[in-house]
Amino acid sequence: MSILVVGSVALDTVETPFGRVENALGGAATYFSTAASLYTNVKLVAVVGDDFPEEHVEFLRGRGVDLTGLQRRHGQTFHWAGRYEYDNLNNAQTLDTQLGLFAEFDPVLPEDYRDAECLFLANIDPVLQLKVLEQVRRPKLKVLDSMNFWISSNKPKLTEVISKVDVVLMNEGEALQYAETFSLVTAARTILALGPKVVLAKKGEYGAALFADRTYFFSPAYPLEVVKDPTGAGDTFAAGFLGYLDRAGEYSLSAMKRAVVHGSTVASFTIEDYSVDRLRTLTMDEIEQRADHFRHFTDADGEPIFEALQVSSLAGN
Ligand code: AMP
Repeated sequence: MSILVVGSVALDTVETPFGRVENALGGAATYFSTAASLYTNVKLVAVVGDDFPEEHVEFLRGRGVDLTGLQRRHGQTFHWAGRYEYDNLNNAQTLDTQLGLFAEFDPVLPEDYRDAECLFLANIDPVLQLKVLEQVRRPKLKVLDSMNFWISSNKPKLTEVISKVDVVLMNEGEALQYAETFSLVTAARTILALGPKVVLAKKGEYGAALFADRTYFFSPAYPLEVVKDPTGAGDTFAAGFLGYLDRAGEYSLSAMKRAVVHGSTVASFTIEDYSVDRLRTLTMDEIEQRADHFRHFTDADGEPIFEALQVSSLAGN
């Protein structure tokens, strides 16, 4: 049971309508590792510079994340700055991306990383994703995430990586951008034709859709009243999805549908606070409880379960 992840470990400056954080712990692989470590063993491959606070390394170590593959080098850590507007909390506007040491990073996997059962190619240069993919021996599941930045800057390499993985995870808008279409079904068909068995499209507060051969499955997002910072929702969706599958040791389509619900659940916690802060205290009990609610959301004959909408509590009784 283990997941190998490669992706950004970053310092993020994020502005939302509710506040701002500067140089906070971020990065796709950071969010993923923090959340997935609730489910299983995580092995991280990334690089950070002299400006990366040691307390962040200690935090990840304290979660049990294997950091043998985390290099600390002389130079600058990946830095991302983004903003969310009130009317579009689902899509970050990138203000600045500084690759820092990732621009010249050469990931060489420690020997025991090569036998990981699951591989998560989190958001980073597809050239690096491919280098990692080529070093892993026989992973049972290979999952890829990417974003507009890499679609625009290196689509041919991204296409090569897509053709070598089992599951492609993308934001809805990015899947449309990649396939140059306005229809998510067409985008999914285009990506599936390249080789993957499953396409998972994330739709922010509108949920997530799974496409596979003759299969469509949809999970809503968890209805929330408090959203502070949507950053990391996608990466922790991936963590719930892969964490669930790796822990179950099962990779069938029906297991993947259940895993989508876990992805939606974990993402819903992440956005309740800035950076990885909500994940610091999150427990598996809380995840299981919230995941269980999803069964009722689309069942017309279901029981009332949604305590947040208990009318007496709204009236303050
Ligand atoms: P998401 O889960 O999609 O909200 O991912 C948020 C994280 O992605 C942030 O913490 C950023 O540091 C990281 N990020 C932003 N742009 C990139 C990029 N071009 N490559 C890799 N990671 C990125």
